Amino acid sequence: MSPEVPDQQTDDPQAEWELLQLAIQNAQRQIQALANRNRAGIFQAHLLYLEDPTLLDKARQMIFEQRRCAATAWKTVIDELSATYKTLPDPYLQARAADLIDVGMGVLQLLTGETRIDLDISEPGILVASDLTPSEVAQLQPDRVLGICTAAGSATAHSALIANMLGIPMVVGVGKELLALPANTEIALDGERGHIWVQPNDEQLKELQLKQAGAKDKQERHLEAIASNGKKISVKANIIGVTDARLALECGAEGVGLLRTEFLYLERLTLPTEEQQWEIYRAIAAIMGSRPLTIRTVDIGGDKPIPYVNLQPEANPFLGWRGIRQSLDCPEMLKTQLRAILRASHQHNIQVMFPMVSSVQELRAAKEILASTQEELKKAGIPFDNQIKVGIMVEVPAAVTMADRLAAEVDFFSIGTNDLSQYAMAADRTNPKVANLADAFEPAVLRMIEQTVTAAHEAGISVSVCGELASNQVAAPILVGLGVDELSMNPRAISSVKATISQWRIGEMEVLAREVLQLDSATAIRKYAANQLKISFQ
Ligand code: PEP
Ligand code: MG
Repeated sequence: MSPEVPDQQTDDPQAEWELLQLAIQNAQRQIQALANRNRAGIFQAHLLYLEDPTLLDKARQMIFEQRRCAATAWKTVIDELSATYKTLPDPYLQARAADLIDVGMGVLQLLTGETRIDLDISEPGILVASDLTPSEVAQLQPDRVLGICTAAGSATAHSALIANMLGIPMVVGVGKELLALPANTEIALDGERGHIWVQPNDEQLKELQLKQAGAKDKQERHLEAIASNGKKISVKANIIGVTDARLALECGAEGVGLLRTEFLYLERLTLPTEEQQWEIYRAIAAIMGSRPLTIRTVDIGGDKPIPYVNLQPEANPFLGWRGIRQSLDCPEMLKTQLRAILRASHQHNIQVMFPMVSSVQELRAAKEILASTQEELKKAGIPFDNQIKVGIMVEVPAAVTMADRLAAEVDFFSIGTNDLSQYAMAADRTNPKVANLADAFEPAVLRMIEQTVTAAHEAGISVSVCGELASNQVAAPILVGLGVDELSMNPRAISSVKATISQWRIGEMEVLAREVLQLDSATAIRKYAANQLKISFQ
């Protein structure tokens, strides 16, 4: 869909021209990345359009002679040229209009901050790629992309988490032989088990279709996750924006335990403004009504670099300039986000959470920025929730060790098991070769969760788990047994987790947790717990 572009004049044509060139360069980079990842020749043709001197000269002329802003000039030129293509007698040339519009809109969306991804998917099918970035996955249309299969990547990489949230089954780390398959090869996949079938036989297809139908049946909502002797566990959703906020409610979420705000910052040329962020936070809070909305401040870096912020590539991005580290080094950027969050908190149930905290000093520095932002708003007479709750993600082993001290300074903890596993086990979460190590069922990780819960409860604060582990039917009762108060997960997992928890008494889950802590491998824990819970073990 083409973004709205008001007809705007400019006083600074040079700046507009530079902005257009920057957008074109970024679009070229995106297309090149897609061309490398997906074996679709269309992307090479798209690159040629962006080098077309006629197109560029016309846009330049409009900017300098008519003083139109970059987006207006670009849209006008694309509209005019595509209209000309459509009038040509040759049907082949007529069809080029669609390509031109496609590539033109990519640039326009970068100029206007509205994003989307160009993928050559003319009819619903399974997307095969070498790898996909989280923002690429975030822009896929679940009605066109029925499944994703990548040669690289691992299950807790952000791309896989986002696919899960969108309800697109994804199998990652299949190996590079995948890329040798000819286009249109028939493939079936089971995202849950991480299996793919090339040219599946009738029996395999039937089994998968039955499984799919069974999964749909299970989608009925459960009102609350209450252990059978009455302890209420709050089950919330992890989301990335307004669209999945609605989905979260449809799936029975009791609020948002994690809004990953970095998705507002990806695929843009400039930082989102305070106004733009405020509108989105406010819209999500309005959808949530009185239910809590936990907004995590931006967690960029790692596998979510943002070109205009992370200018230097890092040798070990997951050990580098990420999350709160980046935010504290760019206090103005953090302040803009905190202003937007605080303003949205007026008459809404919002809490703020800092990611990747590894020391008490970092937390104090972040809280100081929050306090000075609150002071500024107060002075300006701008309303916000003065009692806003502040929490941190516990996802770095140092935070677990220091949990007692950290707990004294916040209102809640949320354990990020995706990162906690990779850092505890020293196994990059995006590297399929060590995926078996970066496993949140590892006893080392479960012991860290226990330690965190103990410290939190001694300090009288609540603990949530918002990593993928929370959505696992075998893990959820263990987490409840470890004393976790709240689980936050991809919306589609909510109903089955609620149903599982409701089947067990709290004492039974505590015994289960104590027992699995005595085991010495992730495999043994999975197997034992699945057996106790009567869930089939895969
Ligand atoms: C986590 O690390 O478990 C988490 C929830 O955060 P993210 O996956 O966004 O790093
Ligand atoms: Mg994390």
